[in-house]
Amino acid sequence: MKKLTEQKKGEIIKAVKLIDSLKASILIITRVGFMDINNPKDFIDFLEDEDRFTANQVGVDIDTYKAWKSYDGQCTGKTKTGKRCKNTGGFWFHANPNEFTPGTSDRCAVHKGIIYD
Ligand SMILES: [Zn+2]
Repeated sequence: MKKLTEQKKGEIIKAVKLIDSLKASILIITRVGFMDINNPKDFIDFLEDEDRFTANQVGVDIDTYKAWKSYDGQCTGKTKTGKRCKNTGGFWFHANPNEFTPGTSDRCAVHKGIIYD
């Protein structure tokens, strides 16, 4: 996450409006695919916090988005000794965070649905 100065935001607003006036848009690449942007606020949001912007675009909360993004195919459950389970979690690839439920999609059959503090 980076915070843009008001001057930079002003320059971005002008640039995006200019691009929009030319009947063009900005194509960005996110973890969930390509998106066209022609709204300066959206572009500033994307530049300042790509994870939050993408989570908002696909309609999931930021914690779900980050769990989806970091899931590596290994169960995120914990053993009795508090170590991370070494079993394979659920189906390792979900194209869209909307298909992903932390605590279920990323767990083996033993640890599915268990809530840890
Ligand atoms: Zn497990």
